Amino acid sequence: MNYRHAYHAGNFADVLKHSVLFALLQALKAKETPFALIDTHAGSGCYALDGEEAGKTGEYRDGIMRLLFPDLKRGGQAGSQPLPPLLRHWLDAILALPGNEHGLKLYPGSPLQAARAMRDIDGAYLCELHPEEATLLRELFHHDARVHVHNRNGYEALKALLPPKEKRGLVLIDPPYEAQEAEYRLIEATLKAALQRWPTGIYAIWYPIKQRSQVQPFLRWLQHCGAKRVLRAELLVHPDDSPLRLNGSGMAIINAPWNLYQILREPLQAMARLLSQERAAQWQLDWLVEEGASAAATHP
Ligand code: SAM
Repeated sequence: MNYRHAYHAGNFADVLKHSVLFALLQALKAKETPFALIDTHAGSGCYALDGEEAGKTGEYRDGIMRLLFPDLKRGGQAGSQPLPPLLRHWLDAILALPGNEHGLKLYPGSPLQAARAMRDIDGAYLCELHPEEATLLRELFHHDARVHVHNRNGYEALKALLPPKEKRGLVLIDPPYEAQEAEYRLIEATLKAALQRWPTGIYAIWYPIKQRSQVQPFLRWLQHCGAKRVLRAELLVHPDDSPLRLNGSGMAIINAPWNLYQILREPLQAMARLLSQERAAQWQLDWLVEEGASAAATHP
């Protein structure tokens, strides 16, 4: 358990993960009935971008900062095009966080982004195994009766949390992948049990892309997990052939809302334009499983 998200908060992978999360939360809010957000790997909830950890890696500069200041993109004309509404609204929500009045100082993690998007009727169930991160998380939400923090293994806790009393909602699975192979197998076993207990829930799984071959077995598993709709959104800022660095990442969404493909298409295009590094970023959006017609886009 060496992973601390504070070193990576706001990086290009968070931009993909959290903008997809934002889109899913907006979709859930389209109905009046309450929903549940279950975050199996919650982190500490909020990160100081001027703190020691974020300063050491500076990863947010090639992430969220590129969306805020498109001209930071090396040698590019990226600033000339307006952001798609989803990304604009997501950024506005982050800038509206208390503490960010004079510019981006704090980067909210998934639990805080979700809590700020939720209504009074919705509930959040957050699991975090690391005791110090869990303490910070609990402090962050001690005043918020909608939010329940569990200092425990998110994979184990999920069994007890499903199905949620709200009956509809989203499970976010965002582990550190310290041991890649093992983590994927654990996710598959957890999802198998979760889909039995709660077949109608939305499950969003973030995954790192270093070498493509490391991800393929999981994507194949998703195609045969029995779910009727699975959407995959990926963004690569480097070629996916080096095991030594994070080249990109993806979000797999089980039981994705039917219109999520349309909602994410333009934002992914814009993220690729703004987050590209030494060469053009690649993005991919397609249904791994879809009832009825298929849609797919791979660029460039
Ligand atoms: N979801 C967070 C966000 O988007 O802001 C970031 C989570 S970070 C990638 C992964 C977190 O999972 C770390 O804080 C780590 O301590 C925690 N963790 C690792 N193994 C865990 C487990 N089995 N159950 C719950 N939390 C775990």
